Amino acid sequence: MIKGYSEKLDNLYKQIKQNNLKEQTRRKNYILKIHPEIIETDKKIAIFSLNMLKSKNKSQIEDLKFKIKSLRDKKYTMLKSIGLPKDYLDIIYTCKNCKDSGYILNQKCSCFYKNLSSIYLEESDLKILMNKNNFDNFDFSYFSKNVVRNHSISPEENIKNIYRNILNFIKNFDNITTNLLFTGECGSGKTFLSHCIAKDLLEKGYLVIYKTSEDLFSELHKYYSFKSSDFSKNIEDSILMQCDLLIIDDLGTESPNNFYYSYFFNFLNKRILLGKKILISTNFTLKDLQHHYSDRISSRIFGNFSIFNFFVDQDIRIQKKIKGRSV
Ligand SMILES: [Zn+2]
Repeated sequence: MIKGYSEKLDNLYKQIKQNNLKEQTRRKNYILKIHPEIIETDKKIAIFSLNMLKSKNKSQIEDLKFKIKSLRDKKYTMLKSIGLPKDYLDIIYTCKNCKDSGYILNQKCSCFYKNLSSIYLEESDLKILMNKNNFDNFDFSYFSKNVVRNHSISPEENIKNIYRNILNFIKNFDNITTNLLFTGECGSGKTFLSHCIAKDLLEKGYLVIYKTSEDLFSELHKYYSFKSSDFSKNIEDSILMQCDLLIIDDLGTESPNNFYYSYFFNFLNKRILLGKKILISTNFTLKDLQHHYSDRISSRIFGNFSIFNFFVDQDIRIQKKIKGRSV
């Protein structure tokens, strides 16, 4: 984890608590105006609850319990009479599971990773990229209808097939353990489609982390060599391991290093065992992958990933430039 994220996350939880407190105060003031008896009842409940905590006398405790219960019933009836739910004046939590602390006992709550991802996203280039690269802007016209070179189908037919599979992947995201491998030349739409997937899943509330392989390998190195500045130096506990989908862009562009490859294999293995999904995009062909990485890595990838090969008649980036010029 990049330095400074811990502080930002603390501030985010503080902000959430402050906003909720503000809202609770607003609600109390509103009720005070329209139905002050509810607030008085609430105050009595608070005093009786405190007395009950202090008391050591059993029959007194029972008596207070009874009084509190009937006061609560009275409060709920009054709230209902003005069309409000019974918890209207309670402390408000954005995440009821951890009461906006980020932790349940010593375990990180799921909201912890979600909030962390929103901070990541806020500061990453992905947010800007996703505004342009999303399903609404997916343009099939860059994929020729003519069969090209060594392929048996046209780029258009191929991309439509991939597109359909990806929509299914997103639709069934909760129930599948499929990982995706996008192979193909530069400018064949792999990264664009990865951004589309990231945006769609993030909007559905999933935690998606996007890393170039270079960044991923250097982060893995920090974890495995215990140099990470994350809250926990434990890879199992990291956002890289816990996120719902990890997108690894441009596998193969990292500087080759056998140590890094063994970290990568361990990491890949653990995520696959946990059923956490991965999307890898690479300019390598399957043969290149096999040649470049150890058998352990390539067989993990081939055995656990659905492989989609992207191809075009002409590099989409060049097509866009030509289009731009002719407009
Ligand atoms: Zn939580």
